[in-house]
Amino acid sequence: MVDVADELLANNRLYADPLAHQHVDLRPTRALAIVTCMDSRLNVFAALGLEEGDAHVLRNAGGVITDDMIRSLAISQRLLGTREVMLIHHTDCGMQRLTDDGFRAELQADTGEAPAFAIESFSDLDAAVRQSILRVRRSVFLPHRDRVRGFVYDVDTHRLREVS
Ligand SMILES: [Zn+2]
Repeated sequence: MVDVADELLANNRLYADPLAHQHVDLRPTRALAIVTCMDSRLNVFAALGLEEGDAHVLRNAGGVITDDMIRSLAISQRLLGTREVMLIHHTDCGMQRLTDDGFRAELQADTGEAPAFAIESFSDLDAAVRQSILRVRRSVFLPHRDRVRGFVYDVDTHRLREVS
């Protein structure tokens, strides 16, 4: 079987060749960090009208604020000048289709080892967004916690809804 990566490598040559050499500054021009899910249907840059160099986009399963997301946000804010955080969960998320206990048991049954990490599944989207907002607001490692807003992206209508 051929790796998808080989096809993407060819795609990259087609993408890069017509572009002029340009250097964009390392610091995001919009001083924004976005935390969202790894879901393949959410094209963050297109959906939000962002360009290369505009914002940091941090992704994991569920768009959950974990210690590693705090690590990235701390670097984003302290070293690279971002001041605003957008949290984006989405409808029909894979994390709504499992439970912490169930997935943990499955991993343990298959491997004989219990994972050290938390699974962080959720059923209520808005509650999950609010919890992520709280985790950012409570992190002492982040100097900028006043502009943190949470949203749900609808994968069918492509619209964002703010969670208050
Ligand atoms: Zn998801």
